[in-house]
Amino acid sequence: MEKLNYCSNCSGPIKFLKKHYYCNNCKTIIYLDPKVAVAAIIFQNQSILLVKRAINPSMGSWSFPSGFVDRGEKLEDALKREVMEETNLKIEVSNLIGVYSYNDNPIILCAYEAKVLSGNIKMNHEIDEVKEFLLTELPELAFDHDIQIINDWKKQS
Ligand SMILES: [Zn+2]
Repeated sequence: MEKLNYCSNCSGPIKFLKKHYYCNNCKTIIYLDPKVAVAAIIFQNQSILLVKRAINPSMGSWSFPSGFVDRGEKLEDALKREVMEETNLKIEVSNLIGVYSYNDNPIILCAYEAKVLSGNIKMNHEIDEVKEFLLTELPELAFDHDIQIINDWKKQS
C-alpha cells in the first residue's frame, strides 16, 4: 500500500490507525480510494493478443492490453481507449470475464473479452511488442492474476 506522511487537508503529520490514515491536527480521516484497471483478452486466429510491457511494473514481460480507468469514465470506454493507446486497434468489448482484487493491493482489475474491429498495430511508449500467441504456446505472464483470467475465460467460452 502507499505510504503517506502528511495530511492532504492541512499538511499536518498523519498516522495509520487500523484501516485508515488519521490526522491528529485537523481530526480528519484520510480515505484512500482503490484504483480501477481494465484488461482485455483479445482472442482471434486461435491466439491471444499480448503486449510486452516497456514500463514497470513487470517491464519486459507479457500481459494483456490494460490500463487505469479515469474518474467518471465508463469501464468499456476505458478499455477501448487503453487498447487504442497501446496497440492502435479499435475493439468491441464483449463480456466481462471477472473482477479481481486482493488484500493490501489498491488495484481492482476488471477483465473483459474483446474483439478487434479495425486498425493496424502501432505501439505507444508503454509497449515494446504486440504479438498473438497460440493458447498452447503462451509465454510466462507478467502478473499472478493473468493466468487466472485466462482460466476463467476458458471456462466461459
Ligand atoms: Zn490534517
